[in-house]
Amino acid sequence: MQIGIPRESLAGETRVAATPETVKKYVSAKHTVLIERGAGESAFFPDAAYEQAGAQLVDAAQALASDLVLKVRSPQASELAQMKKGAVLIGMLDPFNREGLAALAQAGVTAFALEAAPRITRAQSLDVLSSQANLAGYKAVLLAANHYGRLFPMMMTAAGTLKAARAVVLGAGVAGLQAIATAKRLGAVVEASDVRPAAKEQIESLGAKFIDVPFETDEEREIAEGTGGYARPMPPAWMARQSKLVAERCRQADIVISTALIPGRPAPELISAETVQGMKPGSVIVDLAVERGGNCPLSEKDRVVQKHGVTLVGLSNLPALVPHDASALYARNVLDFMKLVADSEGRLAIQHEDEIIAACLVCTDGKVLRSA
Ligand code: NAD
Repeated sequence: MQIGIPRESLAGETRVAATPETVKKYVSAKHTVLIERGAGESAFFPDAAYEQAGAQLVDAAQALASDLVLKVRSPQASELAQMKKGAVLIGMLDPFNREGLAALAQAGVTAFALEAAPRITRAQSLDVLSSQANLAGYKAVLLAANHYGRLFPMMMTAAGTLKAARAVVLGAGVAGLQAIATAKRLGAVVEASDVRPAAKEQIESLGAKFIDVPFETDEEREIAEGTGGYARPMPPAWMARQSKLVAERCRQADIVISTALIPGRPAPELISAETVQGMKPGSVIVDLAVERGGNCPLSEKDRVVQKHGVTLVGLSNLPALVPHDASALYARNVLDFMKLVADSEGRLAIQHEDEIIAACLVCTDGKVLRSA
């Protein structure tokens, strides 16, 4: 099968959907790989490395006109117009974006949105949300450290002792747990909050303190368990208690990394404008939920702003700031997914009965099958 890998066209997107390592595997599985010249440049994978791996360097139109197209982000309208009807498209296609899916259906492609993969053990090696969120959590802490006018670790020097930074992590999923681990490694004192009771043990196992918002009813406890590893919106009474506690913890904090998300919903507001006002001057908030509206109403998408003496980092695509590793992990996720789409002779063989395929298939034959 002909596999095309266009260069990502979305502003600020530095990742690429295949690396020389995965291209080599596609070629040895009898695929023909057409990669757009410069597709891996911003992730530091040079054209020559792709050529050496067996890919042919082509222009965008040729890559997009392939039988199967691998992307990081959803193609833009101009790219979709260059794709063949019936072509297979694999990427992070934003399965909650109905308009986006409608455009894919209209272009007649068979589209797989990798974010919709179920969170089952067998799908772990193709879990793009985890592979990318992990890097985002790491980078968020480094950004916070850069914008913080002080140090993270406690330091005893001849000129006096510096106190360790206090970090609060809100949402202890994949990104949050990595943020906790990274902040700890840098020497911060860390505490963290999550709705899911399972997160408590994970937070504590990383050496952070769990910010406990006790459940007052069975209903609260039941909702907090979530579904399929994901959180559900908590009742207002619990949110109000959490908000009070978070406000208290944020006032003591130097660094807040917020990662709280609920699939298909706006991000929950956890850090109110009033809480920001009460924070110490010089403290830093990195709002990883900014793409979904943010956990803090004062953060601004793709901007770093200062409000009430607090620096708010609202960069929405942190994996793109570590494009080499982000691409390497993403490309391996895609390679793993491809095992469910093509056979060992390089032919298209979509395993429709597979639950991962069923969950990720968002459009085919001109129709939107499902939005997540
Ligand atoms: P996510 O990005 O959807 O959400 C981030 C975190 O925000 C979650 O931990 C969620 O519980 C939390 N959150 C939501 N509302 C909140 C609130 N009001 N206050 C505090 N926190 C709030 O989630 P994710 O990181 O993609 O994954 C969540 C969990 O899914 C993981 O921790 C893991 O247990 C599970 N998971 C399982 C697999 C697998 O088994 N294959 C793979 C990946 C993740």
